[in-house]
Amino acid sequence: MARKMLVDGELNQTNKEGAEYDFDLFVIGAGSGGVRAARFSANYGAKVGICELPFHPISSEVIGGVGGTCVIRGCVPKKILVYGATFGGEIEDARNYGWEVNEKLDFNWKKLLQKKTDEINRLNGIYKRLLSNASVKLLEGEGKIVGPNKVEVTQPDGTKLSYSAKHILIATGSRAHRPPIPGQELAITSDEALSLDDLPKHAVVFGGGYIAVEFASIWRGLGATVDLFYRKELPLSGCKKSRRGIKLHPQTNLTELVKTDNGIKVITDHGGELIADVVLFATGRLPNTKRLNLEAVGVEIDKTGAVKVDEYSRTNIPSIWAVGDVTNRMNLTPVALMEGTCFAKTVFGGESSKPDYRNIPCAVFSIPPLSIVGLSEEEAIEQVNGDVLVFTSTFNPMKNTVSGRQEKTIMKLVVDAETDKVLGASMCGPDAPEIMQGIAVALKCGATKAQFDSTVGIHPSAAEEFVTMRSVSRHVTARGKAKTNL
Ligand code: FAD
Repeated sequence: MARKMLVDGELNQTNKEGAEYDFDLFVIGAGSGGVRAARFSANYGAKVGICELPFHPISSEVIGGVGGTCVIRGCVPKKILVYGATFGGEIEDARNYGWEVNEKLDFNWKKLLQKKTDEINRLNGIYKRLLSNASVKLLEGEGKIVGPNKVEVTQPDGTKLSYSAKHILIATGSRAHRPPIPGQELAITSDEALSLDDLPKHAVVFGGGYIAVEFASIWRGLGATVDLFYRKELPLSGCKKSRRGIKLHPQTNLTELVKTDNGIKVITDHGGELIADVVLFATGRLPNTKRLNLEAVGVEIDKTGAVKVDEYSRTNIPSIWAVGDVTNRMNLTPVALMEGTCFAKTVFGGESSKPDYRNIPCAVFSIPPLSIVGLSEEEAIEQVNGDVLVFTSTFNPMKNTVSGRQEKTIMKLVVDAETDKVLGASMCGPDAPEIMQGIAVALKCGATKAQFDSTVGIHPSAAEEFVTMRSVSRHVTARGKAKTNL
């Protein structure tokens, strides 16, 4: 198809049925999902434009950066800090392995932070190159939808550009949400937590999800006192994980934050009070849809503000699609990538392709980490008609026998008693995410427990335990009661 040449800023006047468009696809948001969809669509031959907010590590309604949350203020910087925080324990462990660590050890937070910033700058550049190598036109500015086939981009200097596109993809992600308690402005979110000038001495973390647990682990690992407050009985929806000195405050809400000369006074609904120098709210994220003008165009959103889509990521307006966190389906980078890939295949690759949400592995990069794939014990009991077999193993990892560290590794397999199919696996212990990626392949292939058992282990490793769990720990009869929800 011959295409009209696009000149930046030029208003296209012909976007009626059958007319040509400036772009085959215009993507709003250059994070994980948007960049993947843009590149793959361009590789299928589509003419693609994408817009993204100006770069800064701390996001706002008008600040972002190519690469998105994962690269700039999520998975990547967080994992760098987790690596940094893990060395403290490793150095302690090394002593019993003969390492004489005689001199006083110092930790330089500013150095780690600078290394983290260098890395996100590098990745920001790589993402831009990926787009230009795929001939995707990148525009800096805030995108807004002004019609079923029309977007407007407001550049940082206020100039407004207007483009027509046959398809529009919303890939604007999500942002941290602060609970509206008095003094909430004294707290930070994960954005600021990844860019603090000084390492906290006493941090309070509010939230029971993976982001809360990860930051608690990072700060504790780097020597801070950490108090973790959460509404449920256990963090991570029921994970009984080891604590490494993090003070847990289950079923406790924060009710007020007050600025004092000594720091931030944190008041709880149990009447408790403590002083912290940093308070992190990790209490959930909300989709970035407020400023997209969706109501005016008639794109449906749910009560959290997430864009409603069908199983192909299409909204109720046929030319408008959405992928990633903005749809609030499963808010993980690899899921946004999968949705972006399926979108490109469906719309430009000539192959209808639905994202498959079964057996998606995920991890919590706490210290030690936790990882799961497939159904939890509780979900299996709910979803399977018959009995469920649960195999568990709790053991002292071999490294600890010499280091003396008191920390068990735990593993679980959940099996359908009738079909012998492995429905779920979980692990808490060193290398859990690395191990679980391989287990996920087995589950995706529909492996049975007998096939796990006939797989030869790698010895000596923790992973071999997954293929040597011979005795059933729990046989839960149909619609019985789960022991844990992991
Ligand atoms: P994003 O990557 O957020 O991209 C959306 C982009 O759209 C942003 O760059 C934003 O600036 C831009 N944008 C928004 N509005 C506009 C607009 N109007 N115009 C132009 N651009 C706009 N996931 C994992 O899988 N593993 C992890 O370990 C992990 N750790 C995380 C740790 C933290 C602290 C956080 C916050 C998240 C973490 N995630 C993790 C989740 C992961 O980062 C997200 O699921 C993923 O980034 C979603 O990709 P996305 O493309 O939907 O959105």
